Amino acid sequence: TSIPIRRYLATNAEQATAESVPRVEKHQFQAETQQLLHIVAKSLYSDKEIFIRELISNANDALEKLRYVQLSAGGEQVGDDKREIYLYVDDINKTITIKDTGIGMTKKEAIDNLGTIARSGSKLFIEELKKDKTNTDDGKIIGQFGVGFYSAFMVSNSVEVVTRSYKKDEPGYRWTSDGSGSYEIETLLDDVERGTSIRCHLRDDCAEFSKEETVKQIVKKYSNFVSAPIYINDVRV
Ligand code: ADP
Ligand code: MG
Repeated sequence: TSIPIRRYLATNAEQATAESVPRVEKHQFQAETQQLLHIVAKSLYSDKEIFIRELISNANDALEKLRYVQLSAGGEQVGDDKREIYLYVDDINKTITIKDTGIGMTKKEAIDNLGTIARSGSKLFIEELKKDKTNTDDGKIIGQFGVGFYSAFMVSNSVEVVTRSYKKDEPGYRWTSDGSGSYEIETLLDDVERGTSIRCHLRDDCAEFSKEETVKQIVKKYSNFVSAPIYINDVRV
Protein backbone atom coordinates (compact mmCIF):
# COMPACT_ATOMS: atom_id res chain seq x y z
CA THR A 1 0.00 0.00 0.00
CA SER A 2 1.41 3.36 -0.98
CA ILE A 3 0.55 6.67 0.62
CA PRO A 4 0.09 9.51 -1.85
CA ILE A 5 3.14 11.73 -1.66
CA ARG A 6 1.33 14.90 -0.66
CA ARG A 7 -0.50 13.23 2.15
CA TYR A 8 2.68 11.68 3.37
CA LEU A 9 4.34 15.07 3.49
CA ALA A 10 1.40 16.68 5.23
CA THR A 11 1.07 14.02 7.93
CA ASN A 12 4.73 13.54 8.67
CA ALA A 13 5.69 16.14 11.26
CA GLU A 14 9.33 16.12 10.25
CA GLN A 15 8.52 16.77 6.63
CA ALA A 16 5.74 19.27 7.19
CA THR A 17 7.92 22.23 6.39
CA ALA A 18 6.66 25.41 4.81
CA GLU A 19 7.28 23.86 1.41
CA SER A 20 4.71 21.14 1.94
CA VAL A 21 1.98 23.67 2.66
CA PRO A 22 0.07 23.95 -0.60
CA ARG A 23 0.11 27.40 -2.14
CA VAL A 24 -3.22 26.87 -3.87
CA GLU A 25 -6.36 26.21 -1.88
CA LYS A 26 -9.76 25.32 -3.20
CA HIS A 27 -12.83 26.67 -1.40
CA GLN A 28 -16.55 26.22 -1.93
CA PHE A 29 -18.75 29.28 -2.17
CA GLN A 30 -21.27 29.85 0.60
CA ALA A 31 -24.59 28.33 -0.53
CA GLU A 32 -26.32 31.69 -0.95
CA THR A 33 -23.40 33.08 -2.92
CA GLN A 34 -23.55 30.07 -5.21
CA GLN A 35 -27.25 30.62 -5.73
CA LEU A 36 -26.68 34.28 -6.56
CA LEU A 37 -23.81 33.52 -8.92
CA HIS A 38 -25.85 30.97 -10.77
CA ILE A 39 -28.73 33.39 -11.29
CA VAL A 40 -26.44 36.21 -12.32
CA ALA A 41 -24.40 34.12 -14.75
CA LYS A 42 -27.46 32.59 -16.39
CA SER A 43 -29.56 35.71 -16.46
CA LEU A 44 -30.65 37.21 -19.73
CA TYR A 45 -30.24 40.63 -18.23
CA SER A 46 -29.58 42.90 -21.16
CA ASP A 47 -27.82 45.70 -19.37
CA LYS A 48 -24.61 43.73 -18.93
CA GLU A 49 -22.37 46.79 -19.12
CA ILE A 50 -23.21 47.61 -15.50
CA PHE A 51 -20.46 45.21 -14.40
CA ILE A 52 -18.00 47.96 -15.43
CA ARG A 53 -19.78 50.46 -13.22
CA GLU A 54 -19.78 47.99 -10.30
CA LEU A 55 -16.06 47.15 -10.60
CA ILE A 56 -15.08 50.81 -10.97
CA SER A 57 -17.20 51.68 -7.98
CA ASN A 58 -15.44 48.97 -5.92
CA ALA A 59 -12.08 50.31 -7.10
CA ASN A 60 -13.10 53.80 -6.01
CA ASP A 61 -14.28 52.49 -2.63
CA ALA A 62 -10.89 50.78 -2.18
CA LEU A 63 -9.13 54.08 -2.91
CA GLU A 64 -11.34 55.94 -0.43
CA LYS A 65 -10.61 53.31 2.22
CA LEU A 66 -6.90 53.78 1.59
CA ARG A 67 -7.27 57.53 2.03
CA TYR A 68 -9.10 56.95 5.30
CA VAL A 69 -6.46 54.56 6.63
CA GLN A 70 -3.76 56.97 5.64
CA LEU A 71 -5.38 59.89 7.43
CA SER A 72 -6.06 57.91 10.58
CA ALA A 73 -2.61 56.32 10.63
CA GLY A 74 -0.76 59.55 10.06
CA GLY A 75 0.33 58.51 6.60
CA GLU A 76 2.97 56.04 7.75
CA GLN A 77 1.18 52.81 7.04
CA VAL A 78 0.40 52.96 3.38
CA GLY A 79 3.62 54.22 1.81
CA ASP A 80 2.98 55.38 -1.73
CA ASP A 81 -0.46 56.96 -1.66
CA LYS A 82 -1.09 57.07 -5.40
CA ARG A 83 -4.81 56.60 -5.95
CA GLU A 84 -5.72 55.74 -9.53
CA ILE A 85 -7.90 53.37 -11.53
CA TYR A 86 -6.57 51.61 -14.62
CA LEU A 87 -8.60 49.65 -17.13
CA TYR A 88 -6.86 47.40 -19.61
CA VAL A 89 -8.70 45.91 -22.54
CA ASP A 90 -7.31 43.22 -24.79
CA ASP A 91 -9.59 42.29 -27.68
CA ILE A 92 -7.29 39.50 -28.87
CA ASN A 93 -7.45 37.60 -25.60
CA LYS A 94 -10.94 38.98 -24.86
CA THR A 95 -10.18 40.34 -21.43
CA ILE A 96 -10.92 43.48 -19.49
CA THR A 97 -8.98 44.27 -16.33
CA ILE A 98 -9.98 46.81 -13.69
CA LYS A 99 -7.06 47.71 -11.45
CA ASP A 100 -6.77 50.05 -8.49
CA THR A 101 -4.01 51.18 -6.17
CA GLY A 102 -6.36 51.01 -3.20
CA ILE A 103 -6.46 49.22 0.11
CA GLY A 104 -6.21 45.66 -1.27
CA MET A 105 -7.28 42.51 0.54
CA THR A 106 -5.65 40.05 2.90
CA LYS A 107 -6.35 36.36 2.35
CA LYS A 108 -9.12 36.39 4.96
CA GLU A 109 -10.67 39.48 3.42
CA ALA A 110 -10.63 37.94 -0.05
CA ILE A 111 -12.31 34.78 1.29
CA ASP A 112 -14.87 36.72 3.34
CA ASN A 113 -15.61 39.49 0.86
CA LEU A 114 -15.60 37.60 -2.41
CA GLY A 115 -16.86 34.18 -1.30
CA THR A 116 -19.74 35.06 1.00
CA ILE A 117 -22.60 37.49 0.77
CA ALA A 118 -22.21 40.05 3.47
CA ARG A 119 -23.48 42.75 1.25
CA SER A 120 -26.95 44.04 2.02
CA GLY A 121 -27.90 44.57 -1.63
CA SER A 122 -27.13 40.96 -2.51
CA LYS A 123 -28.94 39.67 0.57
CA LEU A 124 -32.05 41.64 -0.37
CA PHE A 125 -31.78 40.28 -3.87
CA ILE A 126 -31.83 36.66 -2.67
CA GLU A 127 -34.70 37.40 -0.27
CA GLU A 128 -36.68 39.00 -3.05
CA LEU A 129 -36.17 35.95 -5.25
CA LYS A 130 -37.25 33.60 -2.47
CA LYS A 131 -40.34 35.66 -1.79
CA ASP A 132 -41.55 35.52 -5.34
CA LYS A 133 -40.71 32.17 -6.87
CA THR A 134 -42.90 32.89 -9.86
CA ASN A 135 -40.75 35.83 -10.83
CA THR A 136 -38.88 34.83 -13.93
CA ASP A 137 -37.50 38.26 -14.71
CA ASP A 138 -34.25 37.94 -12.78
CA GLY A 139 -32.77 40.70 -14.88
CA LYS A 140 -35.18 43.24 -13.51
CA ILE A 141 -34.21 42.31 -9.97
CA ILE A 142 -30.52 42.40 -10.77
CA GLY A 143 -30.96 45.91 -12.11
CA GLN A 144 -32.92 46.93 -9.07
CA PHE A 145 -30.43 45.77 -6.45
CA GLY A 146 -27.14 45.62 -8.25
CA VAL A 147 -25.06 42.60 -7.41
CA GLY A 148 -21.70 44.29 -7.09
CA PHE A 149 -18.65 42.16 -7.69
CA TYR A 150 -20.71 39.18 -8.84
CA SER A 151 -21.91 41.11 -11.88
CA ALA A 152 -18.50 40.23 -13.40
CA PHE A 153 -19.84 36.70 -13.85
CA MET A 154 -22.58 37.97 -16.19
CA VAL A 155 -19.95 38.49 -18.87
CA SER A 156 -17.07 36.19 -17.88
CA ASN A 157 -16.05 32.58 -18.28
CA SER A 158 -13.74 33.16 -15.37
CA VAL A 159 -12.73 36.00 -13.09
CA GLU A 160 -9.23 36.46 -11.72
CA VAL A 161 -8.52 38.76 -8.78
CA VAL A 162 -4.95 39.63 -7.84
CA THR A 163 -4.71 41.61 -4.65
CA ARG A 164 -2.30 42.76 -1.97
CA SER A 165 -3.32 44.55 1.20
CA TYR A 166 -1.71 47.79 2.33
CA LYS A 167 -0.96 46.01 5.61
CA LYS A 168 2.68 45.38 6.32
CA ASP A 169 4.26 42.05 5.30
CA GLU A 170 1.16 40.79 3.52
CA PRO A 171 1.86 38.73 0.40
CA GLY A 172 -0.25 38.96 -2.72
CA TYR A 173 -3.00 36.50 -3.57
CA ARG A 174 -4.68 35.34 -6.71
CA TRP A 175 -8.38 34.45 -6.35
CA THR A 176 -9.92 32.73 -9.37
CA SER A 177 -13.30 31.29 -10.18
CA ASP A 178 -15.49 30.33 -13.09
CA GLY A 179 -18.48 31.00 -10.84
CA SER A 180 -19.60 27.39 -10.72
CA GLY A 181 -19.36 26.29 -7.12
CA SER A 182 -15.81 26.89 -6.03
CA TYR A 183 -12.90 29.29 -6.19
CA GLU A 184 -9.18 28.91 -5.75
CA ILE A 185 -6.88 31.11 -3.79
CA GLU A 186 -3.17 31.07 -4.40
CA THR A 187 -0.48 32.73 -2.33
CA LEU A 188 1.82 34.58 -4.71
CA LEU A 189 5.56 34.37 -4.24
CA ASP A 190 6.46 37.29 -6.42
CA ASP A 191 6.04 40.96 -5.61
CA VAL A 192 2.54 42.31 -6.14
CA GLU A 193 1.64 46.00 -6.14
CA ARG A 194 -0.65 47.21 -3.39
CA GLY A 195 -4.26 47.21 -4.48
CA THR A 196 -6.52 44.99 -6.51
CA SER A 197 -6.68 43.97 -10.12
CA ILE A 198 -9.73 42.14 -11.47
CA ARG A 199 -9.41 40.44 -14.83
CA CYS A 200 -12.56 39.24 -16.58
CA HIS A 201 -12.03 36.54 -19.20
CA LEU A 202 -14.98 37.47 -21.36
CA ARG A 203 -17.46 35.08 -22.92
CA ASP A 204 -17.51 35.17 -26.72
CA ASP A 205 -20.90 36.88 -26.76
CA CYS A 206 -19.54 39.60 -24.45
CA ALA A 207 -16.31 40.26 -26.33
CA GLU A 208 -17.45 43.85 -27.01
CA PHE A 209 -16.25 44.73 -23.49
CA SER A 210 -12.67 44.16 -24.60
CA LYS A 211 -12.97 46.92 -27.24
CA GLU A 212 -11.34 50.17 -26.25
CA GLU A 213 -13.91 52.52 -27.79
CA THR A 214 -16.92 50.66 -26.36
CA VAL A 215 -15.42 50.63 -22.89
CA LYS A 216 -14.49 54.30 -23.12
CA GLN A 217 -18.11 55.25 -23.83
CA ILE A 218 -19.34 53.16 -20.90
CA VAL A 219 -16.73 54.59 -18.53
CA LYS A 220 -17.66 58.15 -19.50
CA LYS A 221 -21.22 57.48 -18.40
CA TYR A 222 -20.15 56.58 -14.88
CA SER A 223 -16.92 58.45 -14.29
CA ASN A 224 -18.76 61.50 -12.93
CA PHE A 225 -19.34 59.56 -9.75
CA VAL A 226 -15.69 58.65 -9.38
CA SER A 227 -13.15 61.04 -7.91
CA ALA A 228 -10.00 59.12 -8.94
CA PRO A 229 -8.47 59.45 -12.41
CA ILE A 230 -9.35 56.59 -14.75
CA TYR A 231 -7.05 55.34 -17.51
CA ILE A 232 -7.88 52.95 -20.35
CA ASN A 233 -4.79 51.22 -21.73
CA ASP A 234 -2.75 54.00 -20.11
CA VAL A 235 -4.70 56.88 -21.71
CA ARG A 236 -6.58 59.13 -19.31
CA VAL A 237 -10.34 59.11 -19.91
P1 ADP B 1 -20.17 46.29 -1.93
O1 ADP B 1 -19.28 47.13 -2.80
O2 ADP B 1 -21.57 46.81 -1.88
O3 ADP B 1 -19.61 46.08 -0.54
P2 ADP B 1 -19.49 44.20 -3.78
O4 ADP B 1 -20.12 42.89 -4.13
O5 ADP B 1 -19.38 45.17 -4.89
O6 ADP B 1 -20.27 44.81 -2.57
O7 ADP B 1 -18.06 43.92 -3.20
C1 ADP B 1 -17.92 43.02 -2.11
C2 ADP B 1 -16.74 43.35 -1.25
O8 ADP B 1 -15.53 42.88 -1.89
C3 ADP B 1 -16.48 44.81 -0.97
O9 ADP B 1 -17.26 45.27 0.12
C4 ADP B 1 -14.98 44.81 -0.64
O10 ADP B 1 -14.78 44.43 0.70
C5 ADP B 1 -14.44 43.71 -1.53
N1 ADP B 1 -13.88 44.28 -2.77
C6 ADP B 1 -14.43 44.22 -4.01
N2 ADP B 1 -13.66 44.88 -4.91
C7 ADP B 1 -12.58 45.34 -4.22
C8 ADP B 1 -11.41 46.11 -4.56
N3 ADP B 1 -11.21 46.53 -5.83
N4 ADP B 1 -10.52 46.39 -3.58
C9 ADP B 1 -10.73 45.97 -2.32
N5 ADP B 1 -11.80 45.26 -1.92
C10 ADP B 1 -12.72 44.95 -2.85
MG1 MG C 1 -19.60 47.33 -4.82
